[in-house]
Amino acid sequence: MAAWKMKAMLSFVFQTHSCSQDINRDAPAAEPHSPLEQHQRLIASAGSASVNRQSINMDTEWTASLWLDTFNELLNEDNELDYGDRWTLNFNYNQTDRVTEEERRRGWKVSTYCARGNFECASCTRTWASARVVLVFRYRLLRGQGTVIMRPFGQACLRCRGNNFNLPGFAEKEVEQALLRQFYKIRKNCYHEEDGEKAEDNGRPSSESEEKTKPHKNHLCQACRVGHCCLDDKDDN
Ligand SMILES: [Zn+2]
Ligand SMILES: [Zn+2]
Repeated sequence: MAAWKMKAMLSFVFQTHSCSQDINRDAPAAEPHSPLEQHQRLIASAGSASVNRQSINMDTEWTASLWLDTFNELLNEDNELDYGDRWTLNFNYNQTDRVTEEERRRGWKVSTYCARGNFECASCTRTWASARVVLVFRYRLLRGQGTVIMRPFGQACLRCRGNNFNLPGFAEKEVEQALLRQFYKIRKNCYHEEDGEKAEDNGRPSSESEEKTKPHKNHLCQACRVGHCCLDDKDDN
């Protein structure tokens, strides 16, 4: 096994076990919405991921480990970024899609992805699907170290309303699609690859997925509340 791959795997192990401490490390400034209990739920759910994924049909539980596993599979088995650099995935549940001049100078770029996900209300257990689950990815490549910081945006329950944003769960296929597009962005913007191998999805919901979910309710969407839902798709600027 190549040395860099081994390094990437070791780094993954480290990230998985220390994500509660590392979440905000070197991450850009956050917006004020930061529900601590939601954050703690995330950490808890990451630990019990495999059990819950099998027992819940609809994938309503946010599962950080599913994202980490898929990220590493695509890197180490499918060689999505075959440039010999080390890439890691981190989570920051407060970051926005805004990049300051200072952050830009330090190499940060941002992209948003509009995913199809599922929610379960933590209060009343109502479940619903959405074709507009916003994911914000910050990423940079600096001296051989690639970093991706992801934030999934939540949605509030139609019945309970308020500011309790539940985090989304995803099917494995959807996780793979989102990450493939992110790797495409990285190849294009960090390695200056031409458009040759383009990711299928451009980050907007397809008309098919639109049909199967109810119209997007802006007042219940955390991304809409802070002004960057995928309706205003932004890309690397
Ligand atoms: Zn509810
Ligand atoms: Zn929205």
